Amino acid sequence: MKTLGLLGGMSWESTAIYYRLLNEIVRERLGGLHSAKLLLHSFDFAEIAERQHHGDWDGAGVLLADAARKLAAGGAEGLLICTNTMHKLADQVQAAVSIPLIHIADATAVAVKGAGVRRPALLATRFTMEQDFYKGRLVEKYGLQPVVPNQAGRDMVHRVIYDELCQGIVSAPSKAAYVDEVARLRRDEKIDGVIMGCTEITMLIGARDFDIPVFDTTRIHAEAAVNFALS
Ligand code: GLU
Repeated sequence: MKTLGLLGGMSWESTAIYYRLLNEIVRERLGGLHSAKLLLHSFDFAEIAERQHHGDWDGAGVLLADAARKLAAGGAEGLLICTNTMHKLADQVQAAVSIPLIHIADATAVAVKGAGVRRPALLATRFTMEQDFYKGRLVEKYGLQPVVPNQAGRDMVHRVIYDELCQGIVSAPSKAAYVDEVARLRRDEKIDGVIMGCTEITMLIGARDFDIPVFDTTRIHAEAAVNFALS
């Protein structure tokens, strides 16, 4: 089994989910006392979020690339950025190390296509929904047609991620707002699936809340990582 290096703490709420999933999936595959071989670099998310909201992506990239180098030097053989948003810096992080980066959007796109979904809603941070680094990859590399909420919907989805989920708050009104947003996109935009394109959204909603396919990027990414580790 290969050792995985995790760039986590963005936020730690979802990194804790990754930690459990990676270990559970290895146990499912290998049985007994087997568990994942992991190295974790966990950031203080306040320091990352401040750079995101000031548009200092270069500064954030330096921090992530430096941490990736430390993970590789420590023995990591494959790298995970445990957030969709920070894949904006995937090229910069990959350029810093010679071990492969397991890209969350690639793993997600393969799952979406495999399910026969073509026009998924993308619920994520404002950065992921509005910029091209993630949506563009789904369109250009995989021929998907991701749909994002309108301005009010994007503001709501983004606010719940940063003000609630990343702070460990899971609220019924926010869950209802997400479910309503998906219903609106289904009615107005004819979406045929939902990408939970932020690694904390799995705390709030899941496949049980919808009758169209739902793609949990945290789980999909963890499964891709275990596939790599066991290959
Ligand atoms: N974990 C979230 C994501 O998957 C949001 C926090 C961040 O900006 O990294 O995008």
